Amino acid sequence: TKFADLALDPRVLQAVAETGYETPTPIQEQAIPPALEGRDVLGIAQTGTGKTASFSLPMITILGQGRARARMPRSLVLCPTRELAAQVAENFDTYAKHTKLTKALLIGGVSFGDQDKAIDRGVDVLIATPGRLLDHFERGKLMLNGVQIMVIDEADRMLDMGFIPDIERIFTLTPPTRQTLFFSATMAPEIERITKAFLKDPVKIEV
Ligand code: AMP
Repeated sequence: TKFADLALDPRVLQAVAETGYETPTPIQEQAIPPALEGRDVLGIAQTGTGKTASFSLPMITILGQGRARARMPRSLVLCPTRELAAQVAENFDTYAKHTKLTKALLIGGVSFGDQDKAIDRGVDVLIATPGRLLDHFERGKLMLNGVQIMVIDEADRMLDMGFIPDIERIFTLTPPTRQTLFFSATMAPEIERITKAFLKDPVKIEV
């Protein structure tokens, strides 16, 4: 399989080519087609497998079909740590560079001011850690009912860090019609339970 066979937005394909990727990794090859069809995806994958692009490329393709900088965020990516969220944000900027899509990085340890301004300007994608996302929500700054695509990255680390209740709460704040792309390195019983509760007939991929 080549990237060009994957029905991705031409602007995404161009960015991927410029990044120097030649062929999709196994998780990309398996996750991108069902994600583009709007299916929920449950990916069992370690970091280093190319999973960030496996959710970012279809997400950008789907969002790119709508109007950029909508009034409410249309996508939410949840990461267990600030470092990982910052990395995902950097990757998003690379893959979305030929589109007009915008993002905000909502992580703790920095003041709310710049994050508030980004939200007020209107962003397509929120890349966040669970605690900071809920802080913004509780301050009344954030509407999550426009979320079409939700990504959970490294759910096993969310579990280790005690974020599962936050994740469940965030799921309930997004529309039940959303598409969910869920990634975990392992399938602990607690993780299995939330995938059963919140994913709809997911395509399961193990790499
Ligand atoms: P990730 O598992 O998402 O953290 O990605 C691991 C590393 O692989 C990152 O440095 C990516 O830039 C790189 N990468 C992702 N997809 C590909 C690909 N198809 N070809 C070559 N490198 C890739």
